[in-house]
Amino acid sequence: MRKILLLGASGSIGSQSLDILKGDPKSFLLTSFSVGKRVEIIPDILLSFPSVSHICVQKESDYDVLKAQYPSIHFYFGDEGLRQICEEADYDMAVNALVGFAGLVPSITVLRQDKILALANKESLVVGGRIIKKLLKEGHGKLYPIDSEHVAIAKLLSRVKPEEVEKILITASGGSFRNLKREELAQVTPEMALAHPTWSMGAKITIDSATMMNKGFEVIEAMVLFDYPIEKIEILMHDESHVHSLLKLKDGTLLADVSVPDMHGPIAYALHETHVEFELKRVHKLSELGPYHFHKYDPHRYPAPMIAVNAYQKGGDLTTILNAANEMAVYAFLEGKIPFLSIEKEVEKALANIPYDGGEPSLRQILTLDALTRHYLQQRFERKR
Ligand code: NAD
Ligand code: MG
Repeated sequence: MRKILLLGASGSIGSQSLDILKGDPKSFLLTSFSVGKRVEIIPDILLSFPSVSHICVQKESDYDVLKAQYPSIHFYFGDEGLRQICEEADYDMAVNALVGFAGLVPSITVLRQDKILALANKESLVVGGRIIKKLLKEGHGKLYPIDSEHVAIAKLLSRVKPEEVEKILITASGGSFRNLKREELAQVTPEMALAHPTWSMGAKITIDSATMMNKGFEVIEAMVLFDYPIEKIEILMHDESHVHSLLKLKDGTLLADVSVPDMHGPIAYALHETHVEFELKRVHKLSELGPYHFHKYDPHRYPAPMIAVNAYQKGGDLTTILNAANEMAVYAFLEGKIPFLSIEKEVEKALANIPYDGGEPSLRQILTLDALTRHYLQQRFERKR
C-alpha cells in the first residue's frame, strides 16, 4: 500500500487523481493533500478518504476556520505551507498537480525528502529542470511524469534500445485556434480560447495550448526527463490527440502510443510506476479510432515553442523569466487586460529586457528572478490601463 500526498487536489489533474485513488484503495492510501481556494470540496474528500491527516490551503483565513473545524487534522497555508506539508506529511509518493510556478518548491522538497514524485506540474521542470535533474542524479527520490506525451515517450523508450532511436516526435493538437490563421488571432476572446478541441483542462494550460507555449514547455520537459538534445526532438501536429507521441527509429520504423484522450490513463501509469490494467472510459477498438491527421509544425503560425526552447538553450535562469512572464501574460489575457497575441510579445519583451546572468541559478536566485519578472510585467500592465 502506497501513501499519497496529492498537491492541487481541486484541479483538473487533481480530481482525476482522486478518481484513481478512490478506485484502488488496496494500492493507495491518501494521507495528505492541498487545495487552492476551493476549500468547499474538503468535506467530500475527507468523507471518501478518512485516512487524511495533513491538509494545505492557499489562504490564511481559510486555514483559521478549518483548523477550528477539524482539530485532529494538521493544517498549513500558503507557499510556505506547501513546502512544509511536503516535509512533514507521511507519504511515499507526492502527486504534484499544482499549476504554475507554485509547484517548483514542492517538487524540489519532495525529492530532497528522497520520496517519489509523480509530476504533472511541468513548470517545475521548465524553471528548475537543472536542479531537479541534479537531485535525481545524486540519488534523491524518483520522478514519473504525468504529462500524456511524456508517459507515452517513457513507455516507448522502455521497449527499445537507446541506440535504436533517431528522434522523439511530440504530438500537438494546436489548441483552440488551430483552424484560424495568425492574422485572425487578433480578435479572439478568453471564452473562445478556453474551448479546447480535444482535452478538458485547467485554464492556464488551455491558453498555453492555444499559443503552443505548452508544447515549448513539453519539449524542455522531454530534454530534462530523457536527456535528449533538441536536435533529436520534433513537434508533430496531430488533430485527434489519440497518438500521444512517437519514436522514429534508425531503421525508419515509427513506434506510436495510441489511446483515446483521457488523462486517467497517464495518471494511473505514473501512480503505479508502470503499465497497469486500467479501463479507459471509452471503448477502445482500433476499428473505431481514426482517421488520423498529421501536419508539419509551422513556427511562423506558432512562435511560442521556439521562444521557449531558445530560452532553455541559452541557459541558466532565462527559463525563469520565460515562465513567469508567460504566467503573468496568460492571466492578464484571461482577465481581459491584454489581447491574445500580446502573450508572446510580453514574454519576448521580458526575455529581452530583464537582465539575467546565464549561469546555473540556485533555487534562491530563481525565486528572486521570478518575483522580479512578475513585478516588471505588473508595471507594464498598469501603465497600459
Ligand atoms: P488546474 O488549474 O485545474 O488546477 C491547479 C491546482 O493547483 C488547483 O488545485 C489549484 O487550487 C492549485 N493551485 C494553483 N495555484 C496555487 C497556489 N499558488 N497555491 C496553492 N495551490 C494552487 O490545473 P490542471 O489543468 O490540473 O494542471 C495542473 C498541472 O498539470 C499544470 O502544470 C499543467 O500544465 C499540467 N498538466 C495538465 C493536464 C490536464 O489535462 N489538465 C495535462 C498535462 C499536464
Ligand atoms: Mg501534454
